[in-house]
Amino acid sequence: MKLLIMGRPGAGKGTQAENIVNYYHIPHISTGDMFRAAIKNKTKLGLEASSYMEKGELVPDSLTTNIVCERLQEPDCKDGFLLDGFPRNISQAEALDKFLSDKGICLDAVLDINVPASILIDRMVGRRVCKNCGATYHVEFNKPQVEGVCDKCGSPLVQRADDTYDTAKNRLDVYDQNTAPLLAYYEAKNLLKTVDGNQDFAKVFADIKNVLSK
Ligand code: ADP
Ligand code: AMP
Repeated sequence: MKLLIMGRPGAGKGTQAENIVNYYHIPHISTGDMFRAAIKNKTKLGLEASSYMEKGELVPDSLTTNIVCERLQEPDCKDGFLLDGFPRNISQAEALDKFLSDKGICLDAVLDINVPASILIDRMVGRRVCKNCGATYHVEFNKPQVEGVCDKCGSPLVQRADDTYDTAKNRLDVYDQNTAPLLAYYEAKNLLKTVDGNQDFAKVFADIKNVLSK
């Protein structure tokens, strides 16, 4: 399965990506996770990306497209992958198309997790992530068993630096301006499959499996 997962910031891409990659046995390639790892490791890429990320702006295409194309050439992507958070604008989508067509690779589907913008600020501001394994929780909608502690590895949960009210709001605006046009782009290629993301976690995943089986 060669998939993209799209949706507004906070729509549940990372949450559902975890279910999808376990179910289809494919690697999860999240550009946001790659940038956060680079920032944690204080690499040159991390240094360059952080000034954009802390404002909720897009990291320049020249940095972003390269890391994705390099990652897609690793052996574990041979039989499938789930791209999460990339592409985020038309020029990234065109670069991805060129890369895939040069390699003779076709996407199977582009999933859009559709959630109204009005509820997403609460999702982002209440999101907590494990410092160690990256598992995602929510202070209200998906609480860990012990407050502030990851169920999976016992490490502390933290708030992402860009999950403040103002940055979350800007990320929604950036999505509308840059990323939303990709829905028509992939619809025109007959790849788009939309799922209602404003439902219980398990129901969203059941709908994803259903649309992907068709
Ligand atoms: P994205 O990767 O699209 O930015 P996440 O998967 O990190 O979004 O989810 C954002 C926040 O919303 C997290 O705190 C997550 O626990 C919560 N969340 C995800 N899916 C749902 C859902 N169906 N209902 C309620 N909260 C959800
Ligand atoms: P995410 O983890 O997908 O919510 O992304 C967090 C932040 O990383 C975004 O707000 C951007 O600053 C940056 N980012 C992630 N993916 C991309 C991308 N494809 N293009 C540009 N910036 C990105």
